[in-house]
Amino acid sequence: MNKFIAKYLCYLPVQYLRGQNVKKFLQLVNEDQNKSLSEITNLRDRKLQQIIHTAYKNIPYYMKMFEELNISPRDIQCIFDLQKLPVLSKREVLENEKELIDPNFSDRLFLRKTGGSTGMTLHFMREGRALALNDAIMFRCYDWYNVDIGDRQVRFWGVPVAAWARRKEQFKDFLANRIRISAFDISKSSCLKQYKKIKEFKPTYFYGYTTAIYGFCLFMKESGICLDDLNLKAVICTAEKMYPHHRKLFDEAFNCPVVDEYGSSENGIIAFQCRKGNMHIMSDNLCVEFLDENDNPVAPGQPGRVVVTDLSCHAMPLIRYDIGDIGKPSVEKCSCGIELPLMEMVEGRKEDFIRKKNGELVHAAYLCYTLKEDTVHEFKMYQKETDWLNVQIVKSPFFTDASERKLEENLRSALGKDVRITFEYLDQIPREKSGKLRYFVSELSEHV
Ligand SMILES: [Zn+2]
Repeated sequence: MNKFIAKYLCYLPVQYLRGQNVKKFLQLVNEDQNKSLSEITNLRDRKLQQIIHTAYKNIPYYMKMFEELNISPRDIQCIFDLQKLPVLSKREVLENEKELIDPNFSDRLFLRKTGGSTGMTLHFMREGRALALNDAIMFRCYDWYNVDIGDRQVRFWGVPVAAWARRKEQFKDFLANRIRISAFDISKSSCLKQYKKIKEFKPTYFYGYTTAIYGFCLFMKESGICLDDLNLKAVICTAEKMYPHHRKLFDEAFNCPVVDEYGSSENGIIAFQCRKGNMHIMSDNLCVEFLDENDNPVAPGQPGRVVVTDLSCHAMPLIRYDIGDIGKPSVEKCSCGIELPLMEMVEGRKEDFIRKKNGELVHAAYLCYTLKEDTVHEFKMYQKETDWLNVQIVKSPFFTDASERKLEENLRSALGKDVRITFEYLDQIPREKSGKLRYFVSELSEHV
């Protein structure tokens, strides 16, 4: 599709009709990024006071909490005052989903589910304004690389298992002027087939899971195909930390900037890499704290748990939400001219590939799609052998006798009919040392 048709006749009007005026917010956030650090800090603290006021006035979960702690909204004026409130874990969100929503919110709300990279499915309600602001921030960052709304995107991403959900995604892809390469099917033959499709599509940029783009590049290299002539403006890697071996191959494969995006389904983009290679925090929309194991802020340069307060979502505010990642705050100033503060990722969402018996690879994010059922609270899969997968499950109250069969069918559709799938039911899945739940562990000696 022509870029201008995609931008002015599809994306912007569709979003506008959904109550998401992205154009208006884009103008605002573009002004914000030109502000000085102290202006950005003032803006952030002002928005924080507003969201705290909303939480205290309208949200049952926080009304009770403020009362129990004997705190009034006036006690929270800036990010440092947030220490007076407890950190909100994913489990607490799961257990209090209803009490975290404003029961009298009158605007249309949109349901969002977490990507499930922590193995736990959470539901979030977002108002149109908050979603429009997230999109505006995304396009502000893409503009650092001259990528615009409507530009052609190749998306290395998950593909839903259910046919109706797949069709819905295809329609969304069409409107957004993008084609999708399944991250669940990164094999040599499929990559070669997809390469032809990509070449004909003439994309402006690549976007997707770091390991999926990495897998694609590996097979292209093996096949002697050079990706230079695609003339991409940028490759944006997300959802997984970019390790040096990824960076090395990307530098060989692409003659354009390869950029790290750090975000979440709950908060949109949290930090984005600028042309000088630094990760800028979206502090005009988020309060991001870095905390130690006692919930105290770590010193600059020290690793801490990333805890986020979204400042735009008034329908379901999440204050001090522990996102499950580790990052380092920085007080360095970037030479790119943007004064949004900096951070460094330490340990991102480490995902892996499931290796099939025939050598094909399936991205482990596939599990988030197949096991992300309402019947499952938490899951974790171990690949014991190429033909044996063991799935640990924490049942939700909706789990029935038929649920296991359904999960097994879903898994088999991508992993093969002859694979042995065993299920293990637990009350809770043991966490990693960092407190994170790693949802896929390969016990095979051979890795990607
Ligand atoms: Zn910068």
